[in-house]
Amino acid sequence: MRHIAIIGSGPAGYYTAEAAQKQWGDDVRVDVFDMLPVPYGLIRTGVAPDHQSIKGVSKRYEATALSDNVRFVGNVMIGKDVSVAELQQLYDAVVIATGAPHDRKMDLPGEDLGNVFGSAAFVGWYNGHPMFANLDPDLSGDTAVVIGMGNVALDVTRILSKSRAEFAGSDIVAHALDILDTSKLKRIVVLGRRGPHQIMMTPKELGELSHLTRAAPRVDPVDLPEEGEDALLEPGLRKSVTHLRSFAAIPESHYADYPIEIEFDFFASPRALIGSAGKVEAVEVERTKVEAGRAVGTGEVYTIPASMVVCCIGYRSSPIPDVPFDERAGRFANDEGRILPGLYCVGWARRGPSGTIGTNRPDGFSVVEKIAEDMAAGALGHGGKQGRPGFDALAERRGLDVVTFRDWKKIEAQEEARAREGAPREKFVDVADMIEARKG
Ligand code: NAP
Repeated sequence: MRHIAIIGSGPAGYYTAEAAQKQWGDDVRVDVFDMLPVPYGLIRTGVAPDHQSIKGVSKRYEATALSDNVRFVGNVMIGKDVSVAELQQLYDAVVIATGAPHDRKMDLPGEDLGNVFGSAAFVGWYNGHPMFANLDPDLSGDTAVVIGMGNVALDVTRILSKSRAEFAGSDIVAHALDILDTSKLKRIVVLGRRGPHQIMMTPKELGELSHLTRAAPRVDPVDLPEEGEDALLEPGLRKSVTHLRSFAAIPESHYADYPIEIEFDFFASPRALIGSAGKVEAVEVERTKVEAGRAVGTGEVYTIPASMVVCCIGYRSSPIPDVPFDERAGRFANDEGRILPGLYCVGWARRGPSGTIGTNRPDGFSVVEKIAEDMAAGALGHGGKQGRPGFDALAERRGLDVVTFRDWKKIEAQEEARAREGAPREKFVDVADMIEARKG
């Protein structure tokens, strides 16, 4: 029997569990740990609440979680409640699948001003992550600046633009919906340090900006390269640029019908956040040009008034004590998923925050292949690890309050029962409430 511990119950974690099942069938026992009492990581707290079809992939993870040889071990924080070294004594292989939950810092003056948020915090807030439920953004000003031109910047821009009615069928949490309802925003500036040909936004997501009821996108035609140059782009990016061209062709009269403008500001690199009385009031920006794919400052500096700022410039993994970490890259130090003998990483914890949810599936299968190779080579010892019973004894000695998958199903049932009309669920946003809800 092989015993595998996976730290993190998001996409990378469950695809790895699925791969282990496929690889070893009944000869494996997999424990999937999560610091929260609820599973699915990024699917629950990262994917936008109005993208329910993407969230539907959790049904696939549930099928894996419900099989006899996979077990969910919630409410246990590895690195605090139990160390990685302790897990390694109990399991043949330990796989870190903790994603990249922290914001990359911009290292700019003023980054700590009030009403400036990283996207991990802001997305966590509207998705009900317990760590960010109390963020309390102030939407009473008229201009939000969203820094970055990736899909997270698009998610944040769209969520800030939508009316209450447009959240029908979503699982946006009540506290976010109530604050968004008070929004006085008139302008959302999406800031990119490079140009239209360097955006990281995918076409389907960018196209959604054309269908908002109270916001319209604006692109200045002078920012667009010659149309013929689009032919050199890879097809996805070419489609995204086609959307930008259609935004640039929107007639001026159209904007009168929309209370919010979403303005794309290209070739604009943030230099500082400026504020008074501890609160942001403007973003100082340097005009750039793109040379050999890189943004180069031109020396021209201007300011954009900003009553709030959300920085969507990427994420970092969270280090775990005694596990080698690549500080510069913001992920675990690894060679194709191998960190140390018997210790692996997968998904964003391995490769950084890129790709789609589905990219984690081949990643999961690949790390299981490495484990299988290392086992066959005798690099992981000769079995005899205690696995589950050993962990259960440790949890009992330490007084840990483990939340099982069955407990989660009770929490889920309560979240579904308290959903507002038409919504799939109303999430609990406090760990104590989640624990209480498992009583059924
Ligand atoms: P991303 O795609 O890497 O985009 C980050 C953006 O931030 C880029 O435009 C980047 O510009 C900019 N940036 C980085 N450092 C900056 C700085 N110091 N100053 C100004 N701008 C800076 O990252 P993401 O948007 O966080 O998304 C993470 C991953 O999740 C991506 O793979 C994304 O596709 C995926 N995702 C997918 C969906 C979906 O499919 N619906 C939704 C959300 C996220 P440069 O290019 O110039 O560096």
